[in-house]
Amino acid sequence: MVLNNIVVVGSCMIDLVSYAPRLPFPGETIHGSKFVTTYGGKGANQCVAASKLGGKTALVARVGDDIWGKKYIENLKKENVSTLFVKEMPQVSTGIAQIIVSDSGENQIVIVAGANDELTRQDVENAKTTIKEAAVVVLQLETSVDIAIKTMELCKGISILNGAPALGNYNPKLLKLPTIFCVNESEASIFAGIPVNSKRDAERAAFELLSKGCNSVLITLGAQGALYVSKREKKCYHFNSPSVKCIDSTGAGDAFIGALAYLLANKKDLLKSIEMSCIIAADSVTRQGTQISFPDSDILKTLEH
Ligand code: ATP
Repeated sequence: MVLNNIVVVGSCMIDLVSYAPRLPFPGETIHGSKFVTTYGGKGANQCVAASKLGGKTALVARVGDDIWGKKYIENLKKENVSTLFVKEMPQVSTGIAQIIVSDSGENQIVIVAGANDELTRQDVENAKTTIKEAAVVVLQLETSVDIAIKTMELCKGISILNGAPALGNYNPKLLKLPTIFCVNESEASIFAGIPVNSKRDAERAAFELLSKGCNSVLITLGAQGALYVSKREKKCYHFNSPSVKCIDSTGAGDAFIGALAYLLANKKDLLKSIEMSCIIAADSVTRQGTQISFPDSDILKTLEH
């Protein structure tokens, strides 16, 4: 039996992506230039990002018993993700995300969760042994908080909770359980309860999250890279992202977390893993799309030098 050393519990979404010169204002209709259908959902994205780098991955998720669900499972298999714990739900639609990407690389997203809302504690229970044996377990908040908590309680390795989408009111266990609590600037602001408009603010938010019970906090800062603080050291580490031409930043955060999971599962030092994840995520924004924009293992060869 092949051990899945990275387990991701989370969402599968079909992305319906329209490209337009700019994002529309509320109530406005504008003409787009192109439309594509792609595979998304934070859970599946992060799992595929780790798998493309060479990780042995398994996804715990639900899709609808519709054409999109079947296509999604085929896609996961193509990306070498174990689908043993991906369940097809009768009479429910697969999750759908409608995305608009502007010429400058900004995005706007509306999500209909569909089958993702049907993921239960039983799904986690069914994957219990695999979760316990995993070196790294990854979670997000597109599926229920209860599931994230149960998974983190089972995890014996490193747990990474991506606090996305952010919650204003949340169970304090969400901050206390994960080894690494990872968010972007706007999510950091909501969880910490303070405005985040600069690197300095992000640093304050990270320390605030430590005081709320996090073991360690990783905040991604888009083109400005990332910062990391931990309860143990109480020191803030800053990481730069390489300067690249941004074509489409959709899924940059997922590329980052998938890379981090892969590197930590392969016993890379944490600070080195964050530095490398910034480079891997930056590479992903130079191409359009989400999962198709994630780099494969060739990028690791260039990073080792
Ligand atoms: P998204 O919601 O678009 O998936 P996010 O908001 O969760 O992304 P970001 O903080 O925007 O996450 O980006 C994650 C990582 O991707 C950053 O830490 C950085 O390494 C890389 N990145 C994102 N945008 C850029 C950019 N324009 N140039 C270079 N690197 C980038």
